[in-house]
Amino acid sequence: MRLIEFTDKGLYCPQGDFFIDPWRPVDKAVITHAHADHSRWGMKNYLTHHQSIPVMRHRLGEINVEGIEYGEVRKMNGVSVSLFPAGHIPGSAQVRVEYKGEIWVITGDYKLIDDGISTPFESVKCHSLVTESTFGLPVYKWKPQEEVFSEINEWWRTNREQGLASVLLGYSLGKAQRMLCSIDASIGPILLHGAIHNSNLALEKAGLIFPHTELITKETPKEKYRGALIIAPPSAFGSPWMKKLKPYKVGTASGWMSLRGARRRRNVDRGFVLSDHADWNELNQAVEASEAEKVYVTHGYTNIFSNWLNSQGIDAEPVITEYEGELSEIGEGTNQDKESE
Ligand SMILES: [Zn+2]
Ligand SMILES: [Zn+2]
Repeated sequence: MRLIEFTDKGLYCPQGDFFIDPWRPVDKAVITHAHADHSRWGMKNYLTHHQSIPVMRHRLGEINVEGIEYGEVRKMNGVSVSLFPAGHIPGSAQVRVEYKGEIWVITGDYKLIDDGISTPFESVKCHSLVTESTFGLPVYKWKPQEEVFSEINEWWRTNREQGLASVLLGYSLGKAQRMLCSIDASIGPILLHGAIHNSNLALEKAGLIFPHTELITKETPKEKYRGALIIAPPSAFGSPWMKKLKPYKVGTASGWMSLRGARRRRNVDRGFVLSDHADWNELNQAVEASEAEKVYVTHGYTNIFSNWLNSQGIDAEPVITEYEGELSEIGEGTNQDKESE
């Protein structure tokens, strides 16, 4: 019996009788983070980091959920389960599973750099590592986030001088708050789309603090938009809601913006390369730091990244899962809860 098995409902620990981020309803689910493709509806019991709970409740309603702290150990039929920071969004965790000296780590989504709002990634040694590979190609190499934010600040300042609104698109959970906390809020007023306002309220319950913003409502006077920064989810693009904000410039912040053509396909004025996932170097660093003897590669460029690891002398293989990565950011994912990842 393996400690973790790959089943049609998700990653399963037979000894502990629990699943990790399952995509079908099960009795016991350990959840890495609150994004819609990892934290799904219909589980009898959820176990997750306590910061994920308000967002999960906001999305899933009254669920039976237990929250724990990073490093805290829960025993499940003799199996030790603990969570370690994944640095992806607030509350995001890697799951460490140990039984009779054998250790597995399931990363969930992660990044190594400190984004200023999530507890920074901590590497955990293990025998077997299950890693994501959303951006598992050498072309993906992120700039330091200070550089990206000075580009965004300058774009906003220029638009403001021209009397235009700056509409900035980013996932309503994680990306939007990261932008909100790192942008220069002294440039002008910051207004929010309802989906982002709601995520903020849930994250405030989890203890996060944000700069002053205003929710856009039917009563918001049109003059308020001029010169303002307006943060909205990618699904708002081209909507009647967005057309009311005219005249504006639109920017989008995503790892996919480093792909030639992604910005044009999305038809936005500016693309900022900003991702909550590890880039190529970070993926390699994480695998190396884990000292894993065996690596399983899930969502993203699974074949390419596992072939690369094999060529480096690391035993790796791809695993098929139902996680979506960041595809919905450019409108190429499935429709399920587009605004939430
Ligand atoms: Zn995620
Ligand atoms: Zn994911």
